[in-house]
Amino acid sequence: MSFDVNQIVSYREMCNEEEQEQLQRGMNFELRQGYSVVLMSVKTNAPYVDRISDDGLTIYYEGHDVPGDRLKEYDQPAANPSGTLTQNGMYCHAIDRAKKSGDYPLVKVYEKLQMGIWTYRGLFEMRDYSFIQRGRRKVFEYVFTVTEQKLEEAEKHHARKVIDLEQTRQIPGKVKLAVFKRDKGVCTQCGAKDNLHFDHILPYSKGGTSLKEENIQLLCARHNLQKSDRLNS
Ligand SMILES: [Zn+2]
Repeated sequence: MSFDVNQIVSYREMCNEEEQEQLQRGMNFELRQGYSVVLMSVKTNAPYVDRISDDGLTIYYEGHDVPGDRLKEYDQPAANPSGTLTQNGMYCHAIDRAKKSGDYPLVKVYEKLQMGIWTYRGLFEMRDYSFIQRGRRKVFEYVFTVTEQKLEEAEKHHARKVIDLEQTRQIPGKVKLAVFKRDKGVCTQCGAKDNLHFDHILPYSKGGTSLKEENIQLLCARHNLQKSDRLNS
């Protein structure tokens, strides 16, 4: 089984889901058969600039620096000194290939809220990239769009799951962090601490926004499900 979009998971649950002892790198090209994994962070001192489109369906994910380039002086590299591709280069290469075949590679996105606490942002297609000026140097910026492909096409043993565009509207990390703190990490209905999700109080389709913490709340899986049943009936 796979996580729901906007589900809150522990670091260990995330590693178990991806069958890894640890996940330390931000970019993990083809971590598993059929998809890559990227990690984001919402910390104010996060090392990379990640953005979300206004309609909440696209993530702009910054590539990674030369190891140790804390002052951000050097252009982000597509290749290592030895000539092999960096993670940046592997993603670019895969996207270049996909533009010809039309078969866009899949990437799962996780975001760190705080120590040991992560949210699953969903499954995306890697659609494009650019190499842009940022500060004194140039960086890669990857374009990931919400995919309607079903995960089991990528990985057979995963449960069939239709991606619900409503649920996949992206909530900015800073909003998530503020909501998590405000709701004290528990379901606003019952106080449960497990299986939490970020929920749009007024759905996007009814004019609700993802951009304001006033419209987002924490719900446990049970209350999240109850609410979506009510909305869909
Ligand atoms: Zn609850």
